Amino acid sequence: MARLPTSPRADSHYRLVGATLFDGTSADPLADAEVEVARGRIVYVGRRRRRDPAGVTAIDVSGGYLTPGFIDTHVHLSMSTDVPTEQQRSWFPEEHVIAALGNLHATVDAGVTTARDLSGLTPGYRSSIAAGSIIGPRLHLAIAMLSPTGGHADPVMANGSLPLWAERATTPGWAVVDTIDDVVKSVRALVRTGADVIKVCTSGGMSSPHDDPADRGLPLEHVAAIVAELGGRQGQPVAAHAQNDAGAQAAVLGGATSIEHGYDLSESTVASMIERGTFLVPTLSTLLRTGWSAAEEDPRRARAITSIRDALSAGVRVALGTDAGIHTHGRNLVELSHLVRAGLSPLEALRAGTLGGAELMGLDGDVGSIEVGKVADLVLIKTDPMSDIAALGDPRSIRLVVQAGRAVKDVDDLYPSFDALT
Ligand SMILES: [Zn+2]
Repeated sequence: MARLPTSPRADSHYRLVGATLFDGTSADPLADAEVEVARGRIVYVGRRRRRDPAGVTAIDVSGGYLTPGFIDTHVHLSMSTDVPTEQQRSWFPEEHVIAALGNLHATVDAGVTTARDLSGLTPGYRSSIAAGSIIGPRLHLAIAMLSPTGGHADPVMANGSLPLWAERATTPGWAVVDTIDDVVKSVRALVRTGADVIKVCTSGGMSSPHDDPADRGLPLEHVAAIVAELGGRQGQPVAAHAQNDAGAQAAVLGGATSIEHGYDLSESTVASMIERGTFLVPTLSTLLRTGWSAAEEDPRRARAITSIRDALSAGVRVALGTDAGIHTHGRNLVELSHLVRAGLSPLEALRAGTLGGAELMGLDGDVGSIEVGKVADLVLIKTDPMSDIAALGDPRSIRLVVQAGRAVKDVDDLYPSFDALT
Protein backbone atom coordinates (compact mmCIF):
# COMPACT_ATOMS: atom_id res chain seq x y z
CA MET A 1 0.00 0.00 0.00
CA ALA A 2 1.30 3.45 -0.90
CA ARG A 3 2.52 5.80 1.79
CA LEU A 4 0.21 8.51 3.06
CA PRO A 5 0.88 11.57 0.91
CA THR A 6 1.90 14.85 2.46
CA SER A 7 -1.45 16.53 2.59
CA PRO A 8 -2.31 20.09 3.27
CA ARG A 9 -4.46 20.66 6.32
CA ALA A 10 -8.16 20.95 5.67
CA ASP A 11 -7.92 24.65 6.54
CA SER A 12 -5.12 25.36 4.07
CA HIS A 13 -5.40 27.82 1.19
CA TYR A 14 -3.80 27.22 -2.22
CA ARG A 15 -4.24 27.48 -5.99
CA LEU A 16 -3.82 24.89 -8.73
CA VAL A 17 -2.71 26.71 -11.89
CA GLY A 18 -2.11 25.93 -15.55
CA ALA A 19 -4.11 22.72 -16.17
CA THR A 20 -6.82 22.22 -18.78
CA LEU A 21 -10.07 22.13 -16.83
CA PHE A 22 -13.04 19.81 -17.30
CA ASP A 23 -15.56 21.07 -14.78
CA GLY A 24 -17.94 18.06 -14.84
CA THR A 25 -20.89 19.94 -16.34
CA SER A 26 -19.94 18.86 -19.92
CA ALA A 27 -18.92 22.45 -20.70
CA ASP A 28 -16.01 22.70 -23.16
CA PRO A 29 -12.58 22.27 -21.56
CA LEU A 30 -10.82 25.46 -20.43
CA ALA A 31 -7.08 25.76 -21.12
CA ASP A 32 -4.65 27.40 -18.66
CA ALA A 33 -7.19 27.34 -15.83
CA GLU A 34 -6.93 28.12 -12.15
CA VAL A 35 -8.74 26.62 -9.18
CA GLU A 36 -8.38 28.21 -5.76
CA VAL A 37 -9.14 26.13 -2.67
CA ALA A 38 -9.69 27.45 0.85
CA ARG A 39 -10.80 25.40 3.85
CA GLY A 40 -11.60 22.45 1.60
CA ARG A 41 -13.93 24.36 -0.74
CA ILE A 42 -13.50 25.91 -4.17
CA VAL A 43 -13.37 29.70 -3.95
CA TYR A 44 -12.28 30.52 -7.51
CA VAL A 45 -12.46 28.64 -10.80
CA GLY A 46 -11.79 30.07 -14.24
CA ARG A 47 -9.03 31.31 -16.44
CA ARG A 48 -5.67 31.66 -14.73
CA ARG A 49 -5.58 35.15 -13.28
CA ARG A 50 -2.95 37.56 -14.61
CA ARG A 51 -1.99 38.74 -11.18
CA ASP A 52 -1.41 36.13 -8.47
CA PRO A 53 -3.40 36.73 -5.29
CA ALA A 54 -0.89 37.63 -2.58
CA GLY A 55 -0.05 35.06 0.05
CA VAL A 56 -1.78 32.08 -1.60
CA THR A 57 0.51 29.14 -2.46
CA ALA A 58 0.44 28.30 -6.20
CA ILE A 59 0.83 24.69 -7.30
CA ASP A 60 1.82 24.39 -10.96
CA VAL A 61 -0.17 21.64 -12.69
CA SER A 62 0.37 22.81 -16.26
CA GLY A 63 0.37 20.07 -18.86
CA GLY A 64 -2.24 18.15 -16.86
CA TYR A 65 -6.02 17.80 -17.08
CA LEU A 66 -8.11 18.66 -14.06
CA THR A 67 -11.51 17.05 -13.45
CA PRO A 68 -13.83 16.76 -10.46
CA GLY A 69 -13.22 13.75 -8.22
CA PHE A 70 -15.00 10.81 -9.85
CA ILE A 71 -18.08 9.12 -8.40
CA ASP A 72 -18.76 5.40 -8.73
CA THR A 73 -22.42 4.84 -7.83
CA HIS A 74 -22.29 1.03 -7.78
CA VAL A 75 -19.53 -0.75 -5.88
CA HIS A 76 -19.18 -3.59 -3.38
CA LEU A 77 -16.07 -2.71 -1.40
CA SER A 78 -16.39 -5.64 1.01
CA MET A 79 -16.01 -8.06 -1.92
CA SER A 80 -12.43 -8.86 -2.86
CA THR A 81 -11.75 -10.21 -6.31
CA ASP A 82 -8.10 -11.17 -5.89
CA VAL A 83 -8.50 -13.97 -3.33
CA PRO A 84 -10.77 -16.96 -4.10
CA THR A 85 -13.93 -16.90 -1.97
CA GLU A 86 -13.29 -20.33 -0.46
CA GLN A 87 -9.80 -19.25 0.59
CA GLN A 88 -11.37 -16.28 2.40
CA ARG A 89 -13.12 -18.80 4.65
CA SER A 90 -9.89 -19.15 6.62
CA TRP A 91 -9.60 -15.40 7.18
CA PHE A 92 -9.85 -13.87 10.63
CA PRO A 93 -12.23 -10.91 10.92
CA GLU A 94 -9.31 -8.44 10.76
CA GLU A 95 -8.23 -9.90 7.42
CA HIS A 96 -11.63 -9.02 5.97
CA VAL A 97 -11.26 -5.49 7.30
CA ILE A 98 -7.72 -5.16 5.92
CA ALA A 99 -8.90 -6.43 2.52
CA ALA A 100 -11.71 -3.83 2.53
CA LEU A 101 -9.18 -1.11 3.41
CA GLY A 102 -7.12 -2.17 0.39
CA ASN A 103 -10.21 -1.95 -1.82
CA LEU A 104 -11.02 1.53 -0.46
CA HIS A 105 -7.45 2.65 -1.12
CA ALA A 106 -7.45 1.22 -4.67
CA THR A 107 -10.69 3.07 -5.39
CA VAL A 108 -9.21 6.43 -4.39
CA ASP A 109 -6.04 5.58 -6.31
CA ALA A 110 -8.24 5.21 -9.41
CA GLY A 111 -9.53 8.79 -8.98
CA VAL A 112 -12.83 8.03 -7.21
CA THR A 113 -13.48 10.42 -4.31
CA THR A 114 -17.11 9.42 -3.67
CA ALA A 115 -18.67 5.96 -3.97
CA ARG A 116 -21.96 4.25 -3.29
CA ASP A 117 -21.64 0.77 -1.83
CA LEU A 118 -24.77 -1.12 -2.87
CA SER A 119 -24.58 -3.82 -0.19
CA GLY A 120 -21.88 -5.33 1.93
CA LEU A 121 -20.02 -2.46 3.56
CA THR A 122 -21.00 -1.33 7.05
CA PRO A 123 -21.08 2.22 8.50
CA GLY A 124 -17.78 1.92 10.43
CA TYR A 125 -15.88 2.41 7.18
CA ARG A 126 -17.94 5.44 6.25
CA SER A 127 -17.35 7.17 9.58
CA SER A 128 -13.61 6.31 9.65
CA ILE A 129 -13.18 7.89 6.21
CA ALA A 130 -15.22 10.93 7.19
CA ALA A 131 -13.05 11.33 10.30
CA GLY A 132 -9.88 11.14 8.17
CA SER A 133 -8.63 8.03 10.00
CA ILE A 134 -8.37 5.95 6.83
CA ILE A 135 -8.17 6.76 3.12
CA GLY A 136 -11.21 5.94 1.03
CA PRO A 137 -13.93 7.48 -1.06
CA ARG A 138 -16.66 9.44 0.71
CA LEU A 139 -19.35 6.78 1.09
CA HIS A 140 -23.05 6.27 0.76
CA LEU A 141 -24.14 2.79 1.85
CA ALA A 142 -27.03 0.46 1.13
CA ILE A 143 -25.68 -2.02 3.73
CA ALA A 144 -28.00 -4.81 2.55
CA MET A 145 -30.17 -5.49 -0.48
CA LEU A 146 -33.81 -6.57 -0.47
CA SER A 147 -35.30 -9.43 -2.46
CA PRO A 148 -38.02 -12.05 -2.01
CA THR A 149 -37.27 -15.46 -0.52
CA GLY A 150 -35.33 -17.36 -3.16
CA GLY A 151 -34.54 -14.10 -4.98
CA HIS A 152 -31.26 -12.41 -5.86
CA ALA A 153 -30.48 -11.31 -2.28
CA ASP A 154 -31.32 -14.67 -0.70
CA PRO A 155 -28.10 -16.66 -0.19
CA VAL A 156 -29.65 -19.61 1.66
CA MET A 157 -28.81 -22.88 -0.08
CA ALA A 158 -31.39 -25.61 -0.62
CA ASN A 159 -29.96 -27.47 2.39
CA GLY A 160 -30.15 -24.36 4.56
CA SER A 161 -26.42 -23.57 4.62
CA LEU A 162 -24.97 -20.15 3.89
CA PRO A 163 -22.07 -18.98 1.71
CA LEU A 164 -19.18 -17.30 3.46
CA TRP A 165 -20.18 -13.68 2.79
CA ALA A 166 -23.65 -14.20 4.25
CA GLU A 167 -22.21 -15.72 7.45
CA ARG A 168 -20.00 -12.76 8.29
CA ALA A 169 -21.36 -10.51 11.01
CA THR A 170 -19.38 -7.64 9.49
CA THR A 171 -21.27 -7.76 6.21
CA PRO A 172 -25.03 -8.08 6.79
CA GLY A 173 -25.62 -7.85 3.05
CA TRP A 174 -28.99 -9.45 2.65
CA ALA A 175 -32.60 -8.96 3.67
CA VAL A 176 -35.38 -11.27 2.53
CA VAL A 177 -38.84 -9.71 2.29
CA ASP A 178 -42.11 -11.18 1.06
CA THR A 179 -44.85 -8.86 2.28
CA ILE A 180 -45.33 -5.09 2.58
CA ASP A 181 -44.84 -5.45 6.35
CA ASP A 182 -41.49 -7.20 5.78
CA VAL A 183 -40.48 -4.44 3.37
CA VAL A 184 -41.32 -1.59 5.72
CA LYS A 185 -39.66 -3.29 8.69
CA SER A 186 -36.46 -4.01 6.71
CA VAL A 187 -36.26 -0.46 5.40
CA ARG A 188 -36.71 0.94 8.91
CA ALA A 189 -34.02 -1.37 10.27
CA LEU A 190 -31.61 -0.42 7.49
CA VAL A 191 -32.21 3.29 8.06
CA ARG A 192 -31.62 2.69 11.79
CA THR A 193 -28.29 1.03 10.94
CA GLY A 194 -27.38 4.00 8.75
CA ALA A 195 -28.41 3.27 5.15
CA ASP A 196 -28.06 6.25 2.78
CA VAL A 197 -29.78 4.39 -0.06
CA ILE A 198 -32.09 1.39 -0.26
CA LYS A 199 -31.13 -1.33 -2.72
CA VAL A 200 -33.96 -3.47 -4.02
CA CYS A 201 -33.91 -6.38 -6.47
CA THR A 202 -36.84 -6.21 -8.89
CA SER A 203 -35.35 -8.99 -10.99
CA GLY A 204 -33.20 -12.02 -10.49
CA GLY A 205 -29.48 -11.93 -11.13
CA MET A 206 -26.32 -13.86 -11.74
CA SER A 207 -24.58 -15.96 -9.09
CA SER A 208 -27.48 -16.22 -6.65
CA PRO A 209 -28.34 -19.82 -5.74
CA HIS A 210 -31.99 -19.93 -6.83
CA ASP A 211 -32.74 -17.37 -9.48
CA ASP A 212 -31.75 -16.13 -12.88
CA PRO A 213 -31.68 -12.66 -14.52
CA ALA A 214 -34.95 -13.50 -16.31
CA ASP A 215 -36.79 -14.07 -13.00
CA ARG A 216 -39.11 -11.59 -11.33
CA GLY A 217 -38.02 -9.95 -8.10
CA LEU A 218 -39.94 -7.64 -5.78
CA PRO A 219 -43.12 -6.21 -7.36
CA LEU A 220 -44.04 -2.59 -8.05
CA GLU A 221 -46.10 -2.34 -4.83
CA HIS A 222 -43.05 -3.18 -2.74
CA VAL A 223 -40.92 -0.56 -4.49
CA ALA A 224 -43.71 1.99 -3.97
CA ALA A 225 -43.87 1.05 -0.26
CA ILE A 226 -40.13 1.68 0.09
CA VAL A 227 -40.39 5.04 -1.68
CA ALA A 228 -43.33 6.01 0.54
CA GLU A 229 -41.44 5.00 3.69
CA LEU A 230 -38.35 6.98 2.67
CA GLY A 231 -40.44 9.99 1.63
CA GLY A 232 -41.25 10.47 5.29
CA ARG A 233 -37.54 10.49 6.13
CA GLN A 234 -34.69 12.18 4.24
CA GLY A 235 -35.92 10.92 0.85
CA GLN A 236 -33.01 8.51 0.46
CA PRO A 237 -32.73 7.22 -3.13
CA VAL A 238 -33.90 3.75 -4.11
CA ALA A 239 -31.50 1.77 -6.32
CA ALA A 240 -33.14 -1.09 -8.19
CA HIS A 241 -31.18 -4.07 -9.43
CA ALA A 242 -33.11 -4.83 -12.63
CA GLN A 243 -31.76 -7.15 -15.30
CA ASN A 244 -35.01 -7.79 -17.17
CA ASP A 245 -37.61 -5.42 -18.55
CA ALA A 246 -40.52 -6.40 -16.31
CA GLY A 247 -38.33 -5.81 -13.25
CA ALA A 248 -37.08 -2.48 -14.60
CA GLN A 249 -40.64 -1.37 -15.34
CA ALA A 250 -41.81 -2.31 -11.82
CA ALA A 251 -38.92 -0.31 -10.38
CA VAL A 252 -39.47 2.78 -12.54
CA LEU A 253 -43.25 2.89 -12.01
CA GLY A 254 -42.81 2.17 -8.30
CA GLY A 255 -40.65 5.29 -8.05
CA ALA A 256 -37.06 3.97 -7.89
CA THR A 257 -34.35 6.59 -8.40
CA SER A 258 -32.07 4.41 -10.53
CA ILE A 259 -32.07 1.26 -12.58
CA GLU A 260 -28.87 -0.68 -11.92
CA HIS A 261 -27.68 -2.76 -14.92
CA GLY A 262 -30.76 -2.27 -17.17
CA TYR A 263 -29.66 -5.04 -19.47
CA ASP A 264 -33.03 -5.56 -21.13
CA LEU A 265 -34.94 -2.28 -21.32
CA SER A 266 -37.88 -1.92 -23.71
CA GLU A 267 -38.59 1.33 -25.51
CA SER A 268 -41.57 2.02 -23.25
CA THR A 269 -39.51 1.47 -20.07
CA VAL A 270 -36.88 3.88 -21.38
CA ALA A 271 -39.64 6.40 -22.17
CA SER A 272 -40.94 6.08 -18.59
CA MET A 273 -37.42 6.59 -17.24
CA ILE A 274 -36.98 9.77 -19.28
CA GLU A 275 -40.41 11.06 -18.23
CA ARG A 276 -39.69 10.44 -14.54
CA GLY A 277 -36.00 11.33 -14.55
CA THR A 278 -34.95 7.81 -13.49
CA PHE A 279 -31.19 7.25 -13.76
CA LEU A 280 -29.54 4.35 -15.54
CA VAL A 281 -26.37 2.92 -13.99
CA PRO A 282 -25.19 0.57 -16.77
CA THR A 283 -22.31 -1.28 -14.94
CA LEU A 284 -20.69 -2.04 -18.32
CA SER A 285 -17.36 -2.83 -16.63
CA THR A 286 -18.90 -5.96 -15.17
CA LEU A 287 -20.94 -6.87 -18.25
CA LEU A 288 -17.85 -6.49 -20.46
CA ARG A 289 -15.22 -7.83 -18.11
CA THR A 290 -14.23 -10.50 -20.62
CA GLY A 291 -14.09 -7.91 -23.43
CA TRP A 292 -16.47 -6.46 -26.01
CA SER A 293 -16.15 -9.19 -28.64
CA ALA A 294 -16.83 -12.03 -26.18
CA ALA A 295 -19.88 -10.13 -24.93
CA GLU A 296 -21.15 -9.42 -28.44
CA GLU A 297 -21.01 -13.15 -29.25
CA ASP A 298 -23.11 -14.12 -26.23
CA PRO A 299 -26.84 -13.49 -26.93
CA ARG A 300 -27.73 -12.31 -23.42
CA ARG A 301 -24.82 -9.88 -23.16
CA ALA A 302 -25.30 -8.72 -26.77
CA ARG A 303 -28.91 -7.86 -25.86
CA ALA A 304 -27.61 -5.97 -22.80
CA ILE A 305 -25.25 -3.87 -24.94
CA THR A 306 -28.14 -2.99 -27.31
CA SER A 307 -30.37 -2.15 -24.34
CA ILE A 308 -27.79 0.27 -22.88
CA ARG A 309 -26.96 1.79 -26.29
CA ASP A 310 -30.65 2.46 -27.04
CA ALA A 311 -31.31 3.95 -23.59
CA LEU A 312 -28.27 6.25 -23.85
CA SER A 313 -29.16 7.42 -27.34
CA ALA A 314 -32.74 8.09 -26.21
CA GLY A 315 -31.26 10.48 -23.63
CA VAL A 316 -31.86 8.72 -20.33
CA ARG A 317 -30.07 10.24 -17.30
CA VAL A 318 -26.91 8.30 -16.64
CA ALA A 319 -24.49 7.89 -13.75
CA LEU A 320 -21.26 5.90 -13.77
CA GLY A 321 -21.29 2.64 -11.84
CA THR A 322 -19.05 -0.39 -12.24
CA ASP A 323 -20.19 -3.12 -9.82
CA ALA A 324 -16.56 -3.19 -8.61
CA GLY A 325 -16.25 -6.19 -6.35
CA ILE A 326 -17.26 -8.25 -9.36
CA HIS A 327 -15.28 -5.91 -11.66
CA THR A 328 -11.74 -5.39 -10.28
CA HIS A 329 -11.38 -2.69 -7.62
CA GLY A 330 -9.24 0.26 -8.66
CA ARG A 331 -10.17 0.09 -12.33
CA ASN A 332 -13.35 2.12 -11.94
CA LEU A 333 -12.65 4.58 -14.75
CA VAL A 334 -12.52 1.80 -17.35
CA GLU A 335 -16.27 2.44 -17.35
CA LEU A 336 -15.73 5.82 -19.07
CA SER A 337 -14.38 4.25 -22.26
CA HIS A 338 -17.19 1.66 -22.23
CA LEU A 339 -19.74 4.50 -21.97
CA VAL A 340 -18.09 6.23 -24.93
CA ARG A 341 -18.15 3.04 -26.97
CA ALA A 342 -21.83 2.68 -26.02
CA GLY A 343 -22.60 6.09 -27.49
CA LEU A 344 -21.72 8.95 -25.11
CA SER A 345 -19.24 11.65 -26.09
CA PRO A 346 -16.14 11.88 -23.87
CA LEU A 347 -17.60 15.02 -22.24
CA GLU A 348 -20.91 13.22 -21.56
CA ALA A 349 -19.04 10.25 -20.10
CA LEU A 350 -17.05 12.56 -17.81
CA ARG A 351 -20.32 14.18 -16.72
CA ALA A 352 -21.84 10.75 -15.98
CA GLY A 353 -18.76 9.98 -13.89
CA THR A 354 -18.93 13.19 -11.88
CA LEU A 355 -22.01 15.45 -11.79
CA GLY A 356 -24.34 12.64 -12.94
CA GLY A 357 -23.37 10.50 -9.96
CA ALA A 358 -23.67 13.46 -7.59
CA GLU A 359 -27.20 14.16 -8.86
CA LEU A 360 -28.21 10.52 -8.42
CA MET A 361 -26.87 10.50 -4.86
CA GLY A 362 -28.42 13.86 -3.98
CA LEU A 363 -24.94 15.33 -3.40
CA ASP A 364 -24.81 17.74 -6.34
CA GLY A 365 -25.01 20.76 -4.03
CA ASP A 366 -21.59 19.78 -2.67
CA VAL A 367 -19.67 17.60 -5.14
CA GLY A 368 -19.64 16.44 -8.76
CA SER A 369 -18.39 19.59 -10.48
CA ILE A 370 -15.66 22.19 -10.11
CA GLU A 371 -17.72 25.23 -9.21
CA VAL A 372 -17.35 27.97 -6.64
CA GLY A 373 -18.75 26.91 -3.26
CA LYS A 374 -18.42 23.18 -3.84
CA VAL A 375 -16.18 20.82 -1.90
CA ALA A 376 -12.70 20.62 -3.49
CA ASP A 377 -12.70 17.05 -4.83
CA LEU A 378 -10.25 17.17 -7.73
CA VAL A 379 -8.34 14.79 -9.97
CA LEU A 380 -5.28 15.59 -12.11
CA ILE A 381 -4.78 13.35 -15.15
CA LYS A 382 -1.74 13.29 -17.42
CA THR A 383 -3.64 12.23 -20.56
CA ASP A 384 -6.22 14.33 -22.43
CA PRO A 385 -9.65 12.68 -21.85
CA MET A 386 -10.86 14.08 -25.20
CA SER A 387 -8.25 12.18 -27.20
CA ASP A 388 -7.75 9.06 -25.04
CA ILE A 389 -10.58 8.39 -22.58
CA ALA A 390 -9.40 4.76 -22.18
CA ALA A 391 -6.16 5.95 -20.57
CA LEU A 392 -8.14 7.06 -17.51
CA GLY A 393 -8.89 3.41 -16.74
CA ASP A 394 -5.24 2.95 -15.78
CA PRO A 395 -4.66 4.42 -12.30
CA ARG A 396 -1.13 5.41 -13.35
CA SER A 397 -2.72 8.18 -15.46
CA ILE A 398 -4.20 9.62 -12.28
CA ARG A 399 -1.44 11.77 -10.81
CA LEU A 400 -3.21 13.66 -8.05
CA VAL A 401 -6.41 13.04 -6.10
CA VAL A 402 -7.72 15.77 -3.80
CA GLN A 403 -10.60 15.12 -1.42
CA ALA A 404 -12.16 18.11 0.34
CA GLY A 405 -8.95 20.05 -0.30
CA ARG A 406 -6.68 17.30 1.05
CA ALA A 407 -4.29 15.42 -1.28
CA VAL A 408 -4.97 11.70 -0.83
CA LYS A 409 -2.80 10.70 -3.80
CA ASP A 410 0.13 12.78 -5.03
CA VAL A 411 2.42 10.79 -7.30
CA ASP A 412 4.55 13.72 -8.43
CA ASP A 413 4.88 15.37 -5.01
CA LEU A 414 3.10 18.45 -6.29
CA TYR A 415 1.82 19.38 -2.89
CA PRO A 416 4.29 21.01 -0.56
CA SER A 417 4.51 19.72 2.99
CA PHE A 418 1.87 20.68 5.57
CA ASP A 419 3.83 23.54 7.01
CA ALA A 420 4.70 25.23 3.72
CA LEU A 421 1.04 25.92 3.07
CA THR A 422 -0.65 28.91 4.58
ZN1 LIG B 1 -23.94 -4.87 -7.58
